[in-house]
Amino acid sequence: MLHSPSVHPPREKRPLKPCPIPGCEATVQRGRLMCLSHWTGLPHKLRSAVNESWRDFRRADVGEPRLFHLRRYNAAADAAVSAATACEERVP
Ligand SMILES: [Zn+2]
Repeated sequence: MLHSPSVHPPREKRPLKPCPIPGCEATVQRGRLMCLSHWTGLPHKLRSAVNESWRDFRRADVGEPRLFHLRRYNAAADAAVSAATACEERVP
């Protein structure tokens, strides 16, 4: 058997997606809504709305309660992306 160096097999690599904020070229880790610099620039209220609705969604029972929480999460995520986008547009 060949000795292989300790590299992670490709399937364990966490896929990256682009940051949803227009003009941002950063990549976002799976499970994150946006890149770290945009995320940390958001007001605390928006960040906790996203985190809490996601947590509620994960804990919710399958079926209607899950859909309800998914909609809440989507609304919170949209608000966070809009706020970060608006923030970006204000920068000259
Ligand atoms: Zn970004």
